[in-house]
Amino acid sequence: RISIRGIAAARIAELRETEAAAFRKARPKSEAKVGNGMSGFLGGVPMHWMTDWPTPFPILADGARGAIITDIDGNRLDDFCLGDTGSMLGHSPPAVARAIRRQAGRGLTYMLPSEDALAIGPLLQQRFGLPYWQIATTATDANRFALRVARAVTGREKILVFNGCYHGSVDETMVRLIDGKPVNRPGLAGEFRDLTRATKIVEFNDMAALEAALADRDVACVITEPVLTNSCMVLPEPGFHDALRRLTRAAGALLLIDETHTISTGPGGYTKKYGLEPDLFVLGKPVAGGVPASIWGMSEEVATRYGAYNLTKEPGYSGMGTTLSANPLQFAAMRATLEEVMTEEAYAHMDRLARRLDAGLSSVIDRYHLPWHVTRVGARVEFICAPGPLKNGGEAEKAHAPELEGAIHVALVNRGVLIAPFHNMMLISPATTAAQVSRLIAAFAAVAARLTA
Ligand code: PMP
Repeated sequence: RISIRGIAAARIAELRETEAAAFRKARPKSEAKVGNGMSGFLGGVPMHWMTDWPTPFPILADGARGAIITDIDGNRLDDFCLGDTGSMLGHSPPAVARAIRRQAGRGLTYMLPSEDALAIGPLLQQRFGLPYWQIATTATDANRFALRVARAVTGREKILVFNGCYHGSVDETMVRLIDGKPVNRPGLAGEFRDLTRATKIVEFNDMAALEAALADRDVACVITEPVLTNSCMVLPEPGFHDALRRLTRAAGALLLIDETHTISTGPGGYTKKYGLEPDLFVLGKPVAGGVPASIWGMSEEVATRYGAYNLTKEPGYSGMGTTLSANPLQFAAMRATLEEVMTEEAYAHMDRLARRLDAGLSSVIDRYHLPWHVTRVGARVEFICAPGPLKNGGEAEKAHAPELEGAIHVALVNRGVLIAPFHNMMLISPATTAAQVSRLIAAFAAVAARLTA
């Protein structure tokens, strides 16, 4: 009997098959429309990630509100994926929807500031503690631009990332450690450069490796999430962030903290809650309540050095900025999000329910004696089908069990619950209810019972 993470392989295969059939049966209209791909789109989907869901075909959404998403067959799902954090604050938060409606007839993009922007600058300063900000449209771009500034002010080409990282489709972060050797990410399309020439990579939580990699004093910037969230979630060990800050400062390297996922920690992110001191800061996804927008900020010192750097340069195109960035629709949505949605009260609710979810899933895992664990950063909860805690990206990569996870995901959908596709991530929004959390725990228990029966 072959067993995968405590579950018989035959049982996983059987669950996959029966759940795929149940998914189809509940979605005849969807299957007719998208079952063979959507016409006119490469690969049958408007964005190729949509084929990464483990469901037989993508759920054809009809609409979403709060933490509920409905498909065109009338199925209602408790949404714990929440657009993989883009709608972490709920679908169409009422204050954001109002702000969008107000702006909708007053111009959508001008390449000029609006009065909402006047309010946003001080809000960002107060909330995230850095004095100077720029608006971009995606977290990918915000990271690209912040890295450019880091290189400009340090005069160094290299950056350093942690194995298992994801910071958007930023070319120079697309590296991995495989058997201890730095390589381009294996799946990367059309990449001819050896990215490891200018990107150093070490394991998360390995301070000795970090110190050694910084010793040449040729690294412009270390870019990291406070918690590795883009594989199976890896928490920093005690002292990690202090050591990271001390070592980067000692080596003259800047520290870029990417809060795009860890904003689940609180209204000021993990940075505010744990007193991190980044030189550069990036946040995308939910910062404008689901309207595409991102922010990147810098310290007084970086801003001063960047000003001095610019005096030495011929004026010309900086390689930063995109035409639709910092538009009035973004300002309106971001202002409403910061002022009315990302509040302490909202996060208190999110945190409370996330704790309940963590405890509920953990007790199911205990009840069925599964060699799995649950991890959490604020409103972001993940079950991992391997023992924990995980120490680094290498371990996180190995902790994935794609067949088993795929079977669980579809089985949860069939029980009315949607979780994130690339990992077993569940987010609590301000709109999520205790009843939804209870339904998720019950669905997880039902699936565990089937897998272990
Ligand atoms: N940074 C982190 C930490 C992320 O998780 C992601 C996306 N998953 C990004 C940046 C990129 O965001 P986007 O795809 O919106 O550019």
